[in-house]
Order: sequence, then C-alpha cells, then structure tokens
Amino acid sequence: MDHNAPSPPVTAVGSTQNARQDAVNQLANIGKGEGSILSQLLENPFFTAGFGLAGLGAALRYGSIGLRRTAELIRHRMLVDLEITRHDESYNWVLNWMTNHYSQSLAPQGKKQVGALESLLRRFTPGLHHLQIKTQVSRTASGSQQTAFALVPGHGRHILRYKNAFLAVNRERVGKSFDSNGQPFETVKLTTLYYYRHIFEDIFREAHHMALQSTEGKTVIYTSRNVTWEKSGEPKRRRPFDSVVLQKGLSDKILNDVNEFLNARTWYLDRGIPYRRGYLLYGPPGTGKTSFVQALAGELDFNIAMLSLSQRGLTDDLLNHLLLNVPPRTIVLLEDADAAFTNRRQRDEDGYSGANVTYSGLLNALDGVASAEERIIFMTTNHIDRLDDALIRPGRVDMTVHLGNATEWQMEQLWDRFYAESDTNGEGKTLFMQKARDADLIGSVSTAALQGLFLYNKDDVKGAIAMVDQLATARPQG
Ligand code: ADP
Repeated sequence: MDHNAPSPPVTAVGSTQNARQDAVNQLANIGKGEGSILSQLLENPFFTAGFGLAGLGAALRYGSIGLRRTAELIRHRMLVDLEITRHDESYNWVLNWMTNHYSQSLAPQGKKQVGALESLLRRFTPGLHHLQIKTQVSRTASGSQQTAFALVPGHGRHILRYKNAFLAVNRERVGKSFDSNGQPFETVKLTTLYYYRHIFEDIFREAHHMALQSTEGKTVIYTSRNVTWEKSGEPKRRRPFDSVVLQKGLSDKILNDVNEFLNARTWYLDRGIPYRRGYLLYGPPGTGKTSFVQALAGELDFNIAMLSLSQRGLTDDLLNHLLLNVPPRTIVLLEDADAAFTNRRQRDEDGYSGANVTYSGLLNALDGVASAEERIIFMTTNHIDRLDDALIRPGRVDMTVHLGNATEWQMEQLWDRFYAESDTNGEGKTLFMQKARDADLIGSVSTAALQGLFLYNKDDVKGAIAMVDQLATARPQG
C-alpha cells in the first residue's frame, strides 16, 4: 500500500487545516512588528483619542449605572417610604398634624431680605417652608356664609425632625388628571431611615388623635358635592338633645326606637333583613324637624349627611349612589321628601324630565340601601299630603312622626329653657301663658317663632310678655 498516495478526502481536510493555521498566524502577528494592523491603529492619534474617549464614556456610563444601583440598593435597604393618597381618610389628618406639629417653623421671619445661601440653608433646615392656604366656605342653618382658613404644607419637599429621626415629606400631584370633584390627584410620601420606621405608627396615632379631638363633642355635617359626600365646613358643636322641645315624650320615643334598632344588629343580619330604619318627620315649617335630627345625631354621637330632594341636579342615579356611600356612623337626612312626588306630577303633566329625583328613583334608592353597617334615614316634609302610601311602608319608612305647632307644654318648656334663672318663682311664665291662651296662640304658632321671640327678649321676662300678641302675626295664614 502506497502511504504517500494522497487520498482526496484527507487532502481536503489537510488544506482546510492549513488555511486555518495561516489565519491564526496572521492574527498572532497582528500585534507584532511595525507593520502590524494593531500597531498601525495604535500609532494613529485619532484612533487612540477616540478609543480613549469611548472607553472613558463607557466607564462613566457603567460607573453611573453602578452608582445609581448602589444608591437604590442602599435606599432600598436603609430607607422606608410611606405613601398616602389624597383619597385616603388619613391624608388630611397627616397634613394637619404636620402643620400643627411644626407650627414653630411658621413663625414670621421678619422683613429681612433673605440671601441665596440663607434661603438654601432654610430649604434644608427641618421645618415647613412652603405652605398652602385651605379655605372652606360653608353655610350656616340661617343661610349666612362662613369662611374658615387653615394652613397646610404646600406641594414639594419638606424635611422634618421627629423624635430624633429625620423625615422627608414629599407632597406632589400625580399626573394632570382631576377627580370627579375637580380635585387633582395627589400623594404625600413620608420617607425615613429603616431604623426609625416605628415613627410612622406614632405619627399616625398622633394625627388620628388630633383628628378625633377636633371632632370630639361635635357633629360633622356632610353635604353632597358632585358625586360624593363632603364635610360642610368645620364640625359643629353637638346640639344638646333637650334643646329641641317636641311634644311631651316624643323626643324620647324616637330616641328609644333608634337605640333599639342600633342594639338589634345581629337580629337583622341573622334574618337577612337589610339593617336600616327609616323615619318620616312631617309638619309645618319651623317645628324643629331638622333641629331634632341634629340633636339626635349629637346624642347618639353620629354625624349627619344632609341632602335636599328638591336640590337641582340631583338625579335618581346620584341619589342611589350617595345612599350607598354614606360615611360610617352617619344619619342620612333627606329634606323635602315631597319634591320627588311633585316632580312626578310635573312630569306626568308636562312630559318634563329634568335632572331631578323622581318618585320611583327615591323608592329604588331607599330599597337599595343595604349595608352591614346601620343605616338610619330621616326624611322630612312640610306636605305629607303630597307623599304616596308606597313610601310609608316598613323598610322605607318605619316610623312616621308629626311635629306640630307649639303645644302648651312645649311653650312652657321653651320658656324654662330661656328664663329659668330670671323667672325663679314662675310668675312670668304664668302671665305669659295666660296671654298666649287669650290670644289663641296654643297650637297655632311654630316653635321657631316662639324661640325667635325669646331670643329677641333674651334675659328680659317683661319684654317677652309684652310681645306675646305679636306672635299672632307669625301665625301661618290660611
Ligand atoms: P323645620 O326643619 O321644622 O323647618 P328647624 O329645625 O329648621 O325647623 O327650626 C328652625 C329654627 O327654630 C331652629 O333654629 C330651631 O332651633 C328652632 N326650633 C324649631 N322648632 C324647635 C323646637 N321644637 N325646639 C327648639 N327649637 C326649635
């Protein structure tokens, strides 16, 4: 066998191997000797400068990414954030707590010009350095307007010190959108060292306590604003229960009924009956319908969500939505219940369908109220005759109460409330009542008119007696 005779397949493999070897040699020589490609490139100043710059850029880029990652890691490990959105109940508590807690930093700084360095230093000294004014306009029962101002921390960053810990607070808008009440979406973010994370609990406890104190002994009145219930002005001092004088024994009868209902939660839930109770107070204007609900809310430590069914723009859907979203421990007060029935008549007669609550809308909304929490709904009307029997049915209205003009007993009670101290022997009262009987005023003037006369003659027994006859002019005509 001729070992030198090349066999084609072996030759083919051998030539490929040679070619590879050449390439490897060439590459190995690239860096060697004067004429090599690498040395040529390295001798080229533009190349080396560009290469150097690119290298530097890459190093910086990787360096900055590294730094950022490290900072994020440290931040993640060492800091703790807490975010509160505007729609959370605690949002306002925390803002108010901040203003209250750091009010010392709000002390006037004088008219002195502040230099750039000083202003920079101030930015980083703990305290609130930019504030926002919050104005609340509300209407009192008499219709007058009341305005209250409060200062709250403005948007941006604040650095505060609380119990040895530094706290970064960032109040900011989120996006450009607004909620249904025209309020921008906002958040407040509190950041502190992980080590001090327990201070969040302390802050919330204090903020909550402050919020409770501001409403302690007070009744919060909610009114509808667009599609939600909003606090109407500052919480009002609770109205004492006995400051509203109804017919003898009537206030207690209603109070007992409500208390019985509040104690029967499991009875309702066990039987699958919606846990709600409806009351209808009817009678002429000024007989204490609204005031009684306020006094009852005060007595039970409830708040009030007030809505007039004759309010423009109140649709069936909106009423339904509002009744399903009543704040906790809140009595719903639906005033002018007859408006829904008047609307029906108007619609039937004129084919009109405005943006007002309809009769079926009211019934549906009342029937739809189903919640594990108690729902107490008071409706008031000056025109019981306009209401339909379908409304006065258990589940919708469980108790109907007539509040009429002042009876003899109510007159005497109101007299005592105003003049017990100045008319100690009761002679003034006897005289007053005699004149009231003579003028045929018993049962024909409203308690509001009577209270008006007593207020006008505050501490003046004789003045009140002298003016009894004038009450006759306050008698409703017809
Ligand atoms: P209504 O809702 O029946 O129209 P309000 O409750 O609005 O009457 O009463 C109007 C004013 O008259 C309030 O200032 C209220 O304090 C006073 N008032 C009316 N009725 C009574 C009453 N029975 N006892 C004490 N004050 C009353």
